[in-house]
Amino acid sequence: MRTGSRIEFRNITSDVRRIVGESGVRSGIATVYTPHTTTAIFVNEDESGLRGDLMKVLEKLIPVEGGYQHDLVDDNAFAHLRSIIVNPSITIPIRDGRLMLGTWQSIFLAEFDGPRTRTVYVQVLGSR
Ligand code: ZN
Repeated sequence: MRTGSRIEFRNITSDVRRIVGESGVRSGIATVYTPHTTTAIFVNEDESGLRGDLMKVLEKLIPVEGGYQHDLVDDNAFAHLRSIIVNPSITIPIRDGRLMLGTWQSIFLAEFDGPRTRTVYVQVLGSR
């Protein structure tokens, strides 16, 4: 997929649900994984205020401008560091063919150094 800005949180829940549905797995797990060093995957509520709050907290923890050593070779150290903190993958249980997400949970791709073309793998394991 193509992300649209330098930092964004993209709700990918419907894509993951479709892949799990097509897999035919009734009981198992789905791992959602992004193979980049400046993206991450997380689960939480899809609410615009909360997205803004997360942006703010990440900026406080890991500011864009931080005097990082990696910025001397590639001007995106903050993006790598945020990816490390948030993590590149999550695993969600599947029961009765459905992702066991809570009512308010959505799956997000976090882009920290876009816009770029990004890959997300969904590995579904279990029994039919
Ligand atoms: Zn870099």
